[in-house]
This record gives sequence, structure tokens and C-alpha cells, in this order.
Amino acid sequence: RAKDRGRNTYEFYTEELTRKAFERVLLESNLRLAVEREELFLNYQPQIELATGRVVGMEALIRWNHPELGLLSPTRFIPLAEDSGLIHAIGEWVLREACRQARAWCEAGLEFGRLGVNVSRAQLQRGRLFEDIQSALAASGLPPERLELEVTESFIMEQDTLAVEQLDRLRDCGVSIAIDDFGTGYSSLSYLKRLPVHKLKIDKSFVLDIADDDNDMAIVAAVISMGRKLGLTVLAEGVESARQADFLLENGCHEAQGFLYARPMPHEAVTAFLREQAPKGDSDSDQ
Ligand code: C2E
Ligand code: MG
Ligand code: MG
Ligand code: MG
Repeated sequence: RAKDRGRNTYEFYTEELTRKAFERVLLESNLRLAVEREELFLNYQPQIELATGRVVGMEALIRWNHPELGLLSPTRFIPLAEDSGLIHAIGEWVLREACRQARAWCEAGLEFGRLGVNVSRAQLQRGRLFEDIQSALAASGLPPERLELEVTESFIMEQDTLAVEQLDRLRDCGVSIAIDDFGTGYSSLSYLKRLPVHKLKIDKSFVLDIADDDNDMAIVAAVISMGRKLGLTVLAEGVESARQADFLLENGCHEAQGFLYARPMPHEAVTAFLREQAPKGDSDSDQ
């Protein structure tokens, strides 16, 4: 009987694996068409200056409106896109779309600060990112100073000269660089000396328990202090409570992003959000 059970378990796992592999292949072939069919879209999440409550940035976060499966999170399809090489077409689309939509806020007189765009390691390694960014900026008319690329630590671990060279060129033309998910990359910090980094985004896993966990408090306080000493802007991701925000402000963190302030929203909702945030005109404030 034990043998039977063993066999059933084995069959179960095989079935499960086959199902997963099948789903992967299916999703990948769907994803190939998703760009053309306009099933991809961007949400934006505001970044807030802690001391003033002002909006200082907007991060573009991709979504896939799948015809059968509904709304899919990037954690489900970005890894697939990276493995299959589709990330290049998708990444290029993200840059163009984000720059175009951000430029629309500029034209409407809505202040959103910087536009944050996530970039995969493969995009930098291919060596065309600089050109893609130049052409997205040119097509939209968005000034380079408005753009901030979010890259994770893990992709700078190797001495990747092509990647470093491109980041240097981008910095030289005014684009800024943020390290995303800071603290999760198991990498040495020496890249902070080599790379033109402007901002550290403390990963939300550290922020989650800062109000209660002594270790997380110590880590976050230390990262903020290190970032400040290096002359970097420090942002905390995943801020959900006022207690977390208080701790961050007290410890000198510059910026925060999270559900406490706003969830990622579609473009039109951000437009409304920015309208509401906008300082009222002189005539209004006089009353
Ligand atoms: P990320 O860049 O670290 O983005 C932050 C993630 O945290 C987002 O998940 C956001 O929705 C979520 N988040 C924001 N505030 C809170 C909060 O208060 N609590 C919690 N629990 N979560 C919060 P999302 O949108 O699912 O994106 C996941 C990841 O997918 C991103 O992590 C980024 O690495 C990747 N990604 C998203 N868009 C793109 C893209 O256009 N290109 C590439 N290459 N990667 C992308
Ligand atoms: Mg990000
Ligand atoms: Mg992150
Ligand atoms: Mg992430």
C-alpha cells in the first residue's frame, strides 16, 4: 500500500509539473502576442517625500490583461519574458509608453517629480538600452532629468563593463539610477563606488516589520544612515502603516512608497490623483 501511495504521489507530481510546464509554454506564446494586441498596460505608484508629503516620483509597474486569465502580475510573466528574450520588446514598449504618459502629465501641468521605470538585467546586457532610452525620450519629449531607471543589485554583481558603460552614459545625459530591492541582492556594496547611483530603494521585506522587529529596525536605520552619508536619496518600499512612516521619518529616510499613500493605479486615476494633490492656484489660496 505504501508503494501505491508512493506511486500516486509520484504521478501527482509529474502531472503537476506537466501542468506547470504546459502553462509556461502557453503563457509564453500568449505573451508574444500581448504587445501587439495591446493587452499590456502600466500602472503607476506615487513616491512621497516623507518630510512634506509631496509627490516626488511615480513608478511605472507593468500589468497584463490576459484574455482568459484576467489581470496578471509582473511576477508571473516578467521572469518568462526574461527567459524567452521577449523582455527586449516588452522593455522597449514600457519605456516608450511610460515616457509618453509622463509627458502627458507634464503637458497638463501636473507635477509628478521623477518617472521610475524598472529595467531587467538582460536589457542592460544586450547593450541597446542607451539607444532605446534615447529614442523613447526623443519620441515623447520627456526631459531626461525626469527619468529614473530602477535596477536590482543582483545584475551588477559581475564586472559587467557593458552595463556599467551604459549606466555611465545615461547618467551623463541626465537620467538617474535607483537600486531596487536594496538589501536582497547578497552582493558586495563596492558597486556603490563604481556606479552612478542616485537612490537606494530599501526592499519592502525589511520595511514590513520595522515598527516591531528590532533587527529590521537596526537594518533599516543603518541603510538610511549609510545612504545619506554616501549622498544618496533613500526611499522605503512597501510602507503600509503610519507607524512605519514615523519610524522612517525619525530615522532620516527621504522618501516612501506604499499602500499607505496610494496603490499602483492606471494612468487616468493618477491624473486625478495629481490634480487633487496640486497646490491650488493663487486665487484659491487667497480665499
Ligand atoms: P518592484 O519594482 O520592487 O515594485 C514594487 C512592488 O511592490 C510592486 O509590485 C508594487 O505593487 C508592490 N507594492 C507597492 N506598495 C506596496 C505595499 O505597501 N505593500 C506591498 N506588500 N506591496 C507593495 P508589482 O507591481 O507586482 O511588481 C512586482 C515586480 O515586478 C517589481 O518589483 C519589478 O521588479 C517587476 N516589474 C514591474 N514592472 C516591470 C517592468 O515594466 N519591467 C520589468 N523588467 N520589471 C517590472
Ligand atoms: Mg521597482
Ligand atoms: Mg522593489
Ligand atoms: Mg522587485
